[in-house]
Amino acid sequence: MVKICCIGAGYVGGPTMAMIAYKCPDIQVVVVDISASRINAWNSDRLPIFEPGLDDVVRSCRGVNLHFSSDVESHVADSDIVFVSVNTPTKTRGLGAGKAADLTYWESAARMIADVSTSDKIVVEKSTVPVTTAEAIEKILTHNNPGKHDFQILSNPEFLAEGTAVADLASPDRVLIGGRGDTEGGRKAIAALKAVYARWVLEDRILTMNLWSAELSKLAANALLAQRISSVNAMSALCEAMGANVSEVAYAVGKDSRIGPKFLSASVGFGGSCFQKDILNLVYICECNGLPEVANYWKQVVQINDYQKARFVQRVVSSMFNTVSGKRIAISGFAFKKDTGDTRETAAIDVCHGLLGDKAQLSIYDPQVTEEQMRRDLAMAKFDWDHPQHLVPSSPTAASGQVAVAWDAYAAAKGAHAVCVLTEWDEFKKLDYQRIYEGMEKPAFFFDGRNVVDVDALRKIGFIVYSVGKPLDP
Ligand code: NAD
Repeated sequence: MVKICCIGAGYVGGPTMAMIAYKCPDIQVVVVDISASRINAWNSDRLPIFEPGLDDVVRSCRGVNLHFSSDVESHVADSDIVFVSVNTPTKTRGLGAGKAADLTYWESAARMIADVSTSDKIVVEKSTVPVTTAEAIEKILTHNNPGKHDFQILSNPEFLAEGTAVADLASPDRVLIGGRGDTEGGRKAIAALKAVYARWVLEDRILTMNLWSAELSKLAANALLAQRISSVNAMSALCEAMGANVSEVAYAVGKDSRIGPKFLSASVGFGGSCFQKDILNLVYICECNGLPEVANYWKQVVQINDYQKARFVQRVVSSMFNTVSGKRIAISGFAFKKDTGDTRETAAIDVCHGLLGDKAQLSIYDPQVTEEQMRRDLAMAKFDWDHPQHLVPSSPTAASGQVAVAWDAYAAAKGAHAVCVLTEWDEFKKLDYQRIYEGMEKPAFFFDGRNVVDVDALRKIGFIVYSVGKPLDP
């Protein structure tokens, strides 16, 4: 029986391995992590991540051919295929700080694989990594395990989106397998991984290619997706200035079959652990390879995103008579998108920091984010583009006194001067806004950073409404 081990039981490692186990009952899958609390949660009734449909998939094979363990080394030792799905965050200090990917976790995983292996292995890059990382991994593996075992490195980047991970994994647009097709060992490794995915993915959706193309394709896909959002967000500023409606413009533009309708929703800005990190990584790679113009092009995608978040805060403050000091503002939604509890790089952090900086009192509600997580995020340091050598800490003491966490959207808005929607949770479309209006200070402001509410209906109730890229209040 083939044994697969995955190092890293996070948002990618957990769901992807659960899907492999679910689709391949004859393969033993073990997911390992250095975080014992994460492993305990995977083995409990409350999984460490919220993802629609994931509970059912995990429950159906956990304890049968899917296992979660913190005994990292012993499971890696005798596996045939080792996926590495550890975090690859942006470096915060040293060379390339603020842009380059931090490969510390990857390197330590690779050294451990070399040390403990008792058989030949296929090592699969599941994490998103800089182009040519496979070469570095190969050096670490072969130099630390000289002549004992054969290691074939494959790149198999993950394209799932949080919130729809289970559906994305069950029916992926494509699966990329990058490897050394010019060697016999490489061809065998590619075939072995292809055979795993071929159990449920159509053959024409499994693309094999060279290692560098696969590594770069992942960065390119995220850069292009984020670029679409920044493009439509840049257009939203123009729409507001001209009295146009960004939803109508995006609909019209998306009808062009060369452009298509997806990823054209204007918003307060993109978040998540990947888009910004992967573009910064691309910027760094371009700069290191003597391509400053290309680097600047991609940097703009992140800068427009920062501008959009700052623009939103400015709009809130200027609409509310140029100050939010001492005013209560309800924040509806803190996760970076709906259907996830993930808050990494969420636009809500920057918006809240901006409002707290003007001395607002915040009452925050999100259906999936815990109070502890919100407080941790708001106390976090923030990268400063203008002074890239610095990380600017927000003030945790100010934040804790100015922040309350509410148990629902009604409680958050009670006594508030304004509501800001920062995550597009479906429940925000169906709230009783008449009731919310009645409980608020007047004039009652509504700032929709996700274009989820019916602007006309809210204006009829009496709200003063701002919705990103929409004509302003008459
Ligand atoms: P994560 O932080 O949720 O999970 C990573 C896990 O790896 C953590 O639980 C950590 O404890 C563990 N880990 C780190 N070093 C380890 C080691 N030496 N041994 C064992 N465990 C170790 O990260 P994630 O969101 O799952 O992302 C993982 C990778 O996948 C990143 O490179 C990311 O860019 C990429 N990716 C993420 C997404 C996404 O939507 N989150 C989508 C596609 C690709």
